Amino acid sequence: MRPLYHLLDPFWRRFPFPAGHRFERTAFQGISVLRMSRTYLGNEILPVYCYGVGDTLVDTGISSVAPEVEAFARDARIGRAVLTHHHEDHSGNAALLARLGAEVVATPTGVRLVARDLPRRFYQHVLWGEADPVAAGATGETVPLGRHVARVIPASGHAIDQLALFVPGEGWLFSGDAFVAEKIKIFRGDEDFHESCATLERFLALDFDALLCAHRPRFTGGKEAIRAKLQWMRELEGTVKRLAGEGRSVRAIVRRLGLTTSSRFYVLTFGDATTANLVRSILHGPRPRSEVVAAVAGA
Ligand SMILES: [Zn+2]
Repeated sequence: MRPLYHLLDPFWRRFPFPAGHRFERTAFQGISVLRMSRTYLGNEILPVYCYGVGDTLVDTGISSVAPEVEAFARDARIGRAVLTHHHEDHSGNAALLARLGAEVVATPTGVRLVARDLPRRFYQHVLWGEADPVAAGATGETVPLGRHVARVIPASGHAIDQLALFVPGEGWLFSGDAFVAEKIKIFRGDEDFHESCATLERFLALDFDALLCAHRPRFTGGKEAIRAKLQWMRELEGTVKRLAGEGRSVRAIVRRLGLTTSSRFYVLTFGDATTANLVRSILHGPRPRSEVVAAVAGA
């Protein structure tokens, strides 16, 4: 049976959400830092960051700011966009950039996902909006970032197709959504806890200071932030496994953990981003979305 959000997706696509938006361009060590967000009644929702390095844009942001992204792309002569993963807050302007003549690249799995017009859940329509499908090419082991060469680091966990970009000489790590926060309290249903830990372990083997996260960058002290996050996750894993070993249910474990998630963001997700999903992913692994499984299988 098709999930409910598949059926509702065409409706929410046409719904005129009363969203405003913000867009801001700053710079860090020669990188153009593009910060963007949607707003409702003046309240800003979790901002998204894209990074322009020479002629290359790392992620493409949300489609609500398409005119601003287009103006930036023309001004900076963007010829390449690297997608850290297929989620609509990263691929929202990929089709636009392709129309402007840029090559769009993603992991081989990401290429399959961004080629599809995937259905989105209600909260994704509210927070980020649409992302048109795009024909992307697959990254190799490295990718040019302006005059730099970045190493492509596999970074699955948050998403099955996620990559990170490491620029050794500069100490930059573009981490997509592999970081976001030190103390994560919630997971999407399809996030893989153990893959996320393996990704953080891979990051710790790299020499970087600037963590160019797509939601909460740490321009210095990035590696310490990754170390702190991994430690938090390991402690959480230990606690969850101990409580499960005592015979407690997922619900009881969530109650015992007592992690407070008060943000409006989480309320909106109708159970797709919850502590219960985090506990389930630790104990039983992720629950992949059917459309993602189908796209990856080429079905
Ligand atoms: Zn994401």
